[in-house]
This record gives sequence, structure tokens and C-alpha cells, in this order.
Amino acid sequence: MIPASFDYVRATSLSQAIGLLQNDPDGTKLVAGGHTLIPTLKLRLASPALLIDIGNIQELKGIEIGDQIKIGALTTHAELLESLGGVLPIFHQAADMIADPQVRNRGTIGGSLANADPAADWPAVVVALNAELEVAGPNGRRRIAAKDFFVDIFTTALEPGEVLAAIHIAHPVAGTQFRYRKIRHPASGYAVVGVAVAVCLKDDVVSHASIGITGAAGHAFAAEPAMEFLTGKRLTRKIIEESARLASEQAECLSDHYASADYRKHLVRTEVARALTSLSEGT
Ligand SMILES: Cc1cc2nc3c(=O)[nH]c(=O)nc-3n(C[C@H](O)[C@H](O)[C@H](O)COP(=O)(O)OP(=O)(O)OC[C@H]3O[C@@H](n4cnc5c(N)ncnc54)[C@H](O)[C@@H]3O)c2cc1C
Repeated sequence: MIPASFDYVRATSLSQAIGLLQNDPDGTKLVAGGHTLIPTLKLRLASPALLIDIGNIQELKGIEIGDQIKIGALTTHAELLESLGGVLPIFHQAADMIADPQVRNRGTIGGSLANADPAADWPAVVVALNAELEVAGPNGRRRIAAKDFFVDIFTTALEPGEVLAAIHIAHPVAGTQFRYRKIRHPASGYAVVGVAVAVCLKDDVVSHASIGITGAAGHAFAAEPAMEFLTGKRLTRKIIEESARLASEQAECLSDHYASADYRKHLVRTEVARALTSLSEGT
């Protein structure tokens, strides 16, 4: 398939990209790694008049570890596979399950989050980490809590003319353990259900629990009833099963030709339970 014709600009700064985007937000598309957008153009599911390549904008690149952890929107899955293992090992765990080395070398976390595919992996991770997403637009910058960023299928809280610039994450409390698990779609490898879990145990009691879920519903969400239930309890089999049940009950699941809503609900339950069990066993 051949895309419809479009103009192409390789932006050299974020302000240039925002300025160009502002001229015609509906007729313009940003391209980062292109691994989602280019197939979309080839299938003519999108036909923008202008493509702004943001892939060369330095201020959107790199990982900084300071008071918080800042991940530039252009950071690739491959960089996340290698870079944050000591601080936030869940980035390694999730990146390792995204596609193949070719996709990981080009695809960016910013492109994945902005695209808001309900089956993408990173949304569950940023929700579980209570990340803040920094966006830049014609009216300046603002931060959006990850749990509020994903609004619907392929829909985010980004306003027309805004660019996702970076992801900010607080340093985890010492002793926090992480787990990312997913049931892959056998053809695409995307998550039929993906579960990101962060748990901090003090004297075997959960002092903090956070669970992000992707794949199940129209957008990634925080399993808040399960998180509240876990806090202050020991990770016994009974407690794990009940929290997994709560997460599953909360999920308003999608149904498609591969997985029914009931099957996805079942997978939320099994994957939350398996993730918590592996943390309780320290494996
Ligand atoms: C074969 C294959 C297998 C894959 N498997 C998986 C998988 O298992 N799990 C998974 O999670 N993903 C998977 N992906 C998707 C991959 O991770 C993509 O790289 C990712 O979804 C989009 O990142 P990108 O940088 O390529 O974005 P692009 O394709 O460049 O852009 C995607 C969309 O986001 C917008 N956009 C990009 N950057 C920004 C920004 N900074 N601010 C605002 N809007 C922006 C673009 O305008 C576009 O609408 C797969 C892709 C392929 C091709």
C-alpha cells in the first residue's frame, strides 16, 4: 500500500514542532519512531497533509536520574530495555516483551503513550508507577497524571497542538518490587492483557501497592480497589486471590474476535494473581 501524498518537515526544536502543529492540528501528524504511524498511512487510515518528524529533537531524548526519573518521549524501547534496570526494573521487564529488536530500536515510549493503543504495554507501566506525563503546547507546559492520560481507545488527554515531551517518575521507596506480565496475542504480540505491579513490603506487610492494567479495556487503568485492599495486608494466597478478583471485577473489558470480555476478565484475574504471587515468593 502507498500512502496519500503529504508534506514533510524534519523539526529541529520542540517550539518549531509546536508552531507547525498549531497551524493545522487536524491536518498534521507527528512522527517519532514511525512504527505505528507509517503502517497507518500506508493503509490510508490517516492521510495528513503534513508530517512533522520529531525524531531529531534533542530535548525529547534521553533519560535523566535526578530528584525524579525523567524519560524523554523519544526514548526507544531498546534504550529502556538497557537503562533503568537498577532503579526501575519493570522497564526492562516490559521492554523485553515488546515486539522484536527491530521495533524496539525504532519505537519510542512517547509514540506508544500518545498513540494509546489499548493493547500497548507502556500504558500499564506508567499507570502503575504513578508517572506524570509532561506535555508541551502553544500555551506552555503541563503535567497529566498517567491514570488520567488514557481516555479511550486511541484517545488521550493531549489537546490538539500538544506534544508529549517527557515522563516523570518519583524514585520508588527502597524495597519496592516490580513485575510486568502479559498474555501476548499470538499473531501481533501485543497484550491481550498486561499487568504492571509495584509492591512495597515492610515486615511482610504491604505498605504500598500499585497495579496498572492494559489490554483488557479501552484504555489502561489503575486497579484502585485491589490496590486499596492490599495495603496493610500480608501477601497470603487468600489476599492475593481477593485482590485479583477485585481487579477483574473492576475491568470493563473489550470483546473482539480473539478474546471475549469474559476471557479478558479471567486473564486480569490470573495475571494479577500470578504477578503478586511471584513477588510474595521473591522470584
Ligand atoms: C510488528 C510490531 C509489533 C509491535 N508490538 C508491540 C508490542 O508488543 N507492544 C507494544 O506496546 N507495542 C508494540 N508495537 C508498537 C511499537 O511499540 C510502536 O513503536 C509504538 O506504538 C509507537 O511508537 P513510535 O515511536 O513508533 O510512534 P509513531 O508511529 O511515530 O507515532 C504513533 C502516534 O503517536 C503520535 N506521536 C508520536 N510521538 C508523539 C509525541 N511525542 N507527542 C504526541 N504525539 C506523538 C504520532 O503522531 C502517531 O499518531 C509494535 C509495532 C510493530 C510494528
